Amino acid sequence: MNFDYIIIGAGFAGATLAERLANKANKKVLVIDKRDTIGGNMYDYKDENGIIVHKYGPHLFHTNLENVYNYLQNFGVWFKYEHRVLGMVNNKLVPIPFNLTSISKSFDKELANKLIDILKNKFGIDKKIPILELRKYPDKDINELAEYIYQNVFLYYTMKQWGKTPDEIDPSVTNRVPVYVSLDDRYFQDKYQCMPKEGYTKVFEKMLESDNITVKLNTDAKDILQITDKIYFEGKEFTGKVIYTGPIDELFDYKEGILPYRSLDFEFEKLDTKYFQDVATVNYPTKEDKFTRITEYKHMTIQNGDQIDKTVIMREYPKAFNKDNNDIPYYPIENDESQKMYKKYLAKCNKFDNLYLVGRLAQYKYYNMDLVINEALNLYNELEGE
Ligand code: FAD
Ligand code: UDP
Repeated sequence: MNFDYIIIGAGFAGATLAERLANKANKKVLVIDKRDTIGGNMYDYKDENGIIVHKYGPHLFHTNLENVYNYLQNFGVWFKYEHRVLGMVNNKLVPIPFNLTSISKSFDKELANKLIDILKNKFGIDKKIPILELRKYPDKDINELAEYIYQNVFLYYTMKQWGKTPDEIDPSVTNRVPVYVSLDDRYFQDKYQCMPKEGYTKVFEKMLESDNITVKLNTDAKDILQITDKIYFEGKEFTGKVIYTGPIDELFDYKEGILPYRSLDFEFEKLDTKYFQDVATVNYPTKEDKFTRITEYKHMTIQNGDQIDKTVIMREYPKAFNKDNNDIPYYPIENDESQKMYKKYLAKCNKFDNLYLVGRLAQYKYYNMDLVINEALNLYNELEGE
């Protein structure tokens, strides 16, 4: 078959473009992925007990982008789910983001009430303050509280996750989980928060089911595409368009250097008990534990968890990414140096008039899935929009 487009990667970036190009623009699309599954890091499966498990870490859909929410409704039923996280903070389980309830649970009544009043007066109710900003306030009480939260919530979690302290990484990372002057104990406050009833993989199956789409798994782009002066597909010049969603340094044989990432090891455990913990995720910002969080999938992926006597939990162990160990590059490490290197790769890519980049790895941005889908929808409009 002659393809109009070749898309590398069957995650949300690749699948969104394939779906739009095939169903809206009637283009013939080849989607390849080196894994034996579709869905990229969103891939999930139902285990023998009927529990949907996310293979690559807990994935909660949340967005303020109405277009992205509406788009996803085309691919199955989504149920409302609001994620709640507790943190093991100084030997007590308290809501994360650290909020007014966390203060009440962490300090004696008198001190807690005093701190709550100070925060409410200073910032106002429902205000979010990044920890690195809270630490700068000269007020003694606020400063002591900020120091407590920094030490017990952020310092060791961040050192485990990134191998660096919160001050040494881009502030946008810790800003994702601010201190919250509120009784709202949800992890996210986005307008739309939901999960796919049948799991993400079924969503991807629906996205990719068109006759215009050919999906080839277990296929590395390197084995079928040669990118030299032009792009060659199976030995012949490819005059259609190529959309790449993998790591950009890999595409260009690391000629400008290896972009830094963090990777993870996941440790799954099946337990003969109905529930292991009270909420889907418990964070461990502790020095002693090597993992960052434990997720119990039942809480977030199914609605009949009470009827199943078993459960599955998963611990996340962050580590440095090493391409030679076949680690998966989960988190781009955005800083001035990596951006400089990324721009060199971008310049290489821009020399081709038929090569496009989209997705968390190809754009080298710490994107949640909604932003990846939005970027893919924007690229579709650029390529084929009326
Ligand atoms: P990916 O899903 O990584 O897909 C890229 C695909 O390209 C992969 O399947 C890969 O195999 C393939 N590929 C790469 N190179 C090649 C090649 N050379 N040849 C062939 N195929 C190739 N987002 C949220 O919104 N909510 C969450 O709760 C959330 N939790 C997360 C938890 C963890 C632990 C992680 C790591 C991420 C989380 N995210 C979350 C982010 C979310 O996973 C991403 O935004 C989204 O999956 C990115 O989609 P993508 O298509 O850009 O990339
Ligand atoms: N973080 C932390 N303690 C926590 C939760 C988050 O220090 O209990 C920091 C940490 O640096 C982490 C970042 O906030 O990497 C973003 O957290 P988020 O839960 O958004 O990370 P993700 O789900 O993307 O891994």
